[in-house]
Amino acid sequence: MAETAGHCALCGSLDRKPVQTQRLALLGRDEPCAIAFCVCGDCGHIQQWPPAPPALMAHHYRSIATYEVFGDAESLRAAPASRHARRFLALVADIGITPGCAYEIGCASGAMLHQFRLHGWQVQGCDPSPSAVFQAAEIFGIPADLGDEAEALPHQRELDLILACHVLEHLYDPRAALARFHAALAKGGHLVLEVPCAILPEQLPLGWFTFEHLHYYRQAVLERLLADAGFEIVETRVDQASEHYPVMTIAARKGEQTPQTLPGPDASAGLHLAHSYAARDKLLWTATALRLACIQEPVFLYGAGIHTAQLLDHTDLLPRVIAIADRDSKKWGQVQAGKPIISPAELLAHPSRAPVVISSYVSEKEIVTALLEAGLAPARLMPLYSRNPMGPPESSTDQRAMRDSAR
Ligand SMILES: [Zn+2]
Repeated sequence: MAETAGHCALCGSLDRKPVQTQRLALLGRDEPCAIAFCVCGDCGHIQQWPPAPPALMAHHYRSIATYEVFGDAESLRAAPASRHARRFLALVADIGITPGCAYEIGCASGAMLHQFRLHGWQVQGCDPSPSAVFQAAEIFGIPADLGDEAEALPHQRELDLILACHVLEHLYDPRAALARFHAALAKGGHLVLEVPCAILPEQLPLGWFTFEHLHYYRQAVLERLLADAGFEIVETRVDQASEHYPVMTIAARKGEQTPQTLPGPDASAGLHLAHSYAARDKLLWTATALRLACIQEPVFLYGAGIHTAQLLDHTDLLPRVIAIADRDSKKWGQVQAGKPIISPAELLAHPSRAPVVISSYVSEKEIVTALLEAGLAPARLMPLYSRNPMGPPESSTDQRAMRDSAR
């Protein structure tokens, strides 16, 4: 159903209930891109609808995404498992799967597969990023296929385990992907996946409806989707506290028999959740705009990307922005919302001593710490979210997990 953007991506319905729209200034684009978040009146699935065009999404991933890891190979190999990897390893151990052949969809630089190999698994994976595939081989000695699951999985058969960590919310056609996962598994093989969980709208952060996420899965919707694809649900875990938003980790088994029949999810519950969250999101952005209203002078932004696109959509800051600084060298020289993206060094050397607004929800503390260490005057720093931005930074493990979750 990916080709028919006017239909619900899960059930094909045309009954679209709009919840929120955003106009986002993406990197290297003259005009903001309008996207809409809607709920299906028939199945209750919350989704970007119509989804952003695939060519635009591909441009966005190329201009923004960071799949590489940073650091020397030896310490990366010796690093402890990330929170994501620990959740996957714990679930696999708790349901008693015997190690065999594991394949990870979107394996990035192979850090999670490295942990699985330490637990006795033979490991392989795929990733669309050439630099990530190179690093998986170079740092961890892990063979990874260059490409997405649609390109890589048809060459795989009889796998014992497929891992998909924060993948399914990015895919245009999750039904087709799950069918490929099912076909590549051996009979009795397992799929373990994790996605952001649509639950507790009163606790979700601002900007949770975002450009890269096409799907916002409720537990009932995802379990039904897996059952329809021929999987038996073995265990579902929802973790509300470990990340910046709740995550749902599911282990499912390739069934021997005909698929289970699960009841259809409650469509009105999806609509209620989406509307509750959209109201909260609006309040949170209003509070952010009020904090910014006290500065009437020109400012720098720190952080080029979707948070900045959302910030500019929700405030009248744009005319006062001098430039946008970012630590990712891939973005230097690009333009967002007509503003040049500069390096931290250019920011520090700039003759203007204007305030620097930190435009990141997930990495704010880390950025504040780095800028202070680089010599930026504390009085110029304008964090938007931290109660105590001068407090101790997150541990390096947390920073790695935050980068993972920001992918
Ligand atoms: Zn639907």
